[in-house]
Amino acid sequence: MSDAVAGLTNSKPLAKITDQSEPELRQWAVENEEKPFRAVQLFQWIYLHRVTDWDEMKNVSKKFLRKVSGHFTLQRIPIVRKQEAPDGTIKILQELNDRHRVESVLLNHGDHYTVCISTQVGCAMGCKFCLTAKMGLKRNLTPGEIVEQVLNAQSLLPEGKTLRNIVYMGMGEPFHNYDNTIHSLKILLNPHGFDFSARRITVSTSGIVPGIERFAGESDLQVNLAISLNGVTQEARQKLMPVSRRYSLEELIETCRRFPVESRKRITFEYILMGGLTDSMASARSLVKLLHGIKAKVNLIPYNEHALLPYKSSEPETARQFQQYLLDHGILATMRVSRGQGISAACGQLATEAPARPAGRDEKSGHPEPY
Ligand code: SF4
Repeated sequence: MSDAVAGLTNSKPLAKITDQSEPELRQWAVENEEKPFRAVQLFQWIYLHRVTDWDEMKNVSKKFLRKVSGHFTLQRIPIVRKQEAPDGTIKILQELNDRHRVESVLLNHGDHYTVCISTQVGCAMGCKFCLTAKMGLKRNLTPGEIVEQVLNAQSLLPEGKTLRNIVYMGMGEPFHNYDNTIHSLKILLNPHGFDFSARRITVSTSGIVPGIERFAGESDLQVNLAISLNGVTQEARQKLMPVSRRYSLEELIETCRRFPVESRKRITFEYILMGGLTDSMASARSLVKLLHGIKAKVNLIPYNEHALLPYKSSEPETARQFQQYLLDHGILATMRVSRGQGISAACGQLATEAPARPAGRDEKSGHPEPY
C-alpha cells in the first residue's frame, strides 16, 4: 500500500511518521477514533520489524492503515551513496526532502557495529579542525531524519552483524538542535521499538554549557555524555574551538563537575592529538590537572590529516606517550583506532557540500590562519 492510498487523496504533503513519539501517535489515534494501542503497534512495525510498506503491518486493521497512510509517510530519507573502506567502515550519504544531504558512518568492530549519526546539515560551531564547519549551518534535522539514519544503517549491516552503539558525533552540534535530539533519543529508547540501551548511546557536544545543564535534568534518558575538549587551556581551546569564547573552559569543566554521573558512569572527554599542537607532555600534564575530581574517561583521537585542513597528525610514539601519561596518573584513556580514512569518514571529515575556500586560509591573503 502506498502512502496516500486510493480514495484518500491528500494534497497536503504527508507528515513523517518517524517524527512522532509514541505519546504523539497515541493522541493522533484517539483523535481519529482509534484505540491508543495502535501507537504501540506502529512503533513495533516501524522500529522493531523495520517494515517499509504499510501492507507489511499484518496485525493492523485495513481501516486504520487507510487512515494512517493518508496522513503519514513511511518513506525514509533515501540513501544516495554508500562507500565502504577496506577496514569495513561504511559511509552513508542520504538526501533530505529539500535536497540537502547528510552523512552517517557505520564503524566496524568485527562482530558488531557503531553508527555515528548527524543532527544538523552542516554546523555553526566553526571548529577549526572539522570539515563540516566549513559548510556553515544549513538547517536542523527533524527527529525523524535523525532516527531514519539509524534505520538506514541497520538496513546496510552485513548478514549476522548487529548494531550495538549509537553516537551523536556526525555532522552538527546536538545541543544546537536540542529538542529534536531529545525527541530522537526517546524514539530510540522506546521499549516498543528500537529498545536501545541508554548505555549504548552517546551524545557528544562541543561544549554548549546551557545544553549540558539541560541534559543533566533529562533523568529519564540516562544516555552517555561526551565533551569534545581538544584544548587544555582557555587560550589553546578557543583557537581550535570558537565555542570556547562563549562558554569558557573553566565554565565547561565546572558544569561537568556538577553533571550527575552516578548512573551514567563517566563523562567521556574527546581529545584530538594534533602534531605539535595538542600532543605535548605539558598538555598531558594540564589535562590530568583539569580533569582532577571528575568521573572522566579520555578518548584520544589521532588527528586525520586532510588536504583542506592545515593540521598534522601526531607521531605514533608521541601519541602513545601521551596516553601512557594519562594512564599513569589514574585517568582511563583509550586511543581511538582511526577508521574510514580512505573514504573521508574519519572523525571531523564529514561534509556534504564543498567548502567555499580551502580551510584554514585567510580569504584575502591566502595564507594559513595564524594559530
Ligand atoms: S567538530 Fe562537531 S561541533 Fe565542531 S564544527 Fe564539526 S560538527 Fe560542528
